[in-house]
Amino acid sequence: MTRPAASRSSLSRPRALSGPAAPATLPVARTGRRRTALPRMSELAIDQSAAGRIIDLRRDPQAPHSLPRGLAGGRYRCCACGQRLILTGPANTASHFTPRFRHDGRRPGSDHCSAPAQQQADIQADLTRVLDLRDRLSALPGVTAWLQINPGQAGQRWEVPPALIMRRGNETAVIERPRRPLSPALVDQQLKAVRAQQGAAAQHWWIFDSDDPAHYTSAGSLSVRSRGRALTHRKVQPTSAQRQINARGGAVCWLAEDTLLIPYGGHAHQHAAREGEDWSGDMASWRHDWRISSPRPAGDADWWGLVPVPLSVLDRPAGLRASVAFQVMADLAHAEQGRERHRRRLARDHAPHSTTHNHTPQQLQLPTPDEPPSHAPQQTAVTAAVNSAATAGLPEPASTPPAAPVVAPAGSLPRRAAAAPERPAARRSRFSWRRLLSRGRRSKSNPTPPVG
Ligand SMILES: [Zn+2]
Repeated sequence: MTRPAASRSSLSRPRALSGPAAPATLPVARTGRRRTALPRMSELAIDQSAAGRIIDLRRDPQAPHSLPRGLAGGRYRCCACGQRLILTGPANTASHFTPRFRHDGRRPGSDHCSAPAQQQADIQADLTRVLDLRDRLSALPGVTAWLQINPGQAGQRWEVPPALIMRRGNETAVIERPRRPLSPALVDQQLKAVRAQQGAAAQHWWIFDSDDPAHYTSAGSLSVRSRGRALTHRKVQPTSAQRQINARGGAVCWLAEDTLLIPYGGHAHQHAAREGEDWSGDMASWRHDWRISSPRPAGDADWWGLVPVPLSVLDRPAGLRASVAFQVMADLAHAEQGRERHRRRLARDHAPHSTTHNHTPQQLQLPTPDEPPSHAPQQTAVTAAVNSAATAGLPEPASTPPAAPVVAPAGSLPRRAAAAPERPAARRSRFSWRRLLSRGRRSKSNPTPPVG
């Protein structure tokens, strides 16, 4: 499949943003198929006079005409070795001389970079990825983007590639594209540096690659529903560095082709048995559920779920960039309550004499998700004797035992729960107080829900 280069402008198509969770299928050349040429180091230089902005002669054809030629007082520095560079360009418009930077050497053959070969290769690989994202973001309307590095780092082997500075109107976002492992000290230093340079208002995004095993550890997938649509979300086990960035207010996400994956927290949760509920036998696996923490994963999340949004959301104003993902997360938080209601109804139906219990006032109790399962032993004793009879009498949704084993893998349960039918309207209305109150409680306790 080929895509014309002109299709890049379609990054901004409004319809790509219309659905809350529409995974981006933007017709931009995709990372996996992109044939990005390695950047020539002779086309790149750190500009000491522009706070470490990186000059890219290939992507900025005006630079050779607007910048001073020659050594320019040591203004241009090599990205790899940090030595002073000389900007050379065509003598006149008729010349076909290709502008380039060369090392400052007067002896023949001295125009060589003195950095070790491995360092040059690392820097080239880093720059390839960052420049690729820079090109894609620069195609967004109203967005300008450039690479910048602390000028003092010229010639040092950097661990984090030069940051991508994205400006839209008066707003600035700093985007990191880490490739090598991140130490806690490095993350801390980077967070502080960006805050000092760009101010507290600047957003700090850390965009990892979803196909980078050093920064993406899959934890399976999750079937969820948002606005009546069945969706599959990836789950990831965040690294300690990713948890650290998230805890410190940085925005962690992953890039998969043209889709950004924005995380929420997933917490294993076990429903506490209430009076009149039987969670034994076929119902046992339904007791294992999960809770969401959003819009940012809580520090004690067991895993992170990922909402896919188009990369082009980055052209939105700062407060709206992740709003598409946050809407999906709000839907998931809401569905959580319906899921628990549904399972509790099954557990009540599963209990002996469920027909008499079904309409007792106990069902109108306010939600007590943290309530200890004080009735569980008693229930277990009762249901042990009548389990087979109760199972035979289960209504349709529960008469088919969960396909999962008694203690099911975390990933398989929500799928059934997500597909479970909503309760009849009459029953839902009986629980409106509960819905209302639990919503209120959630907004107060956000973003840390009860953890099971
Ligand atoms: Zn060099």
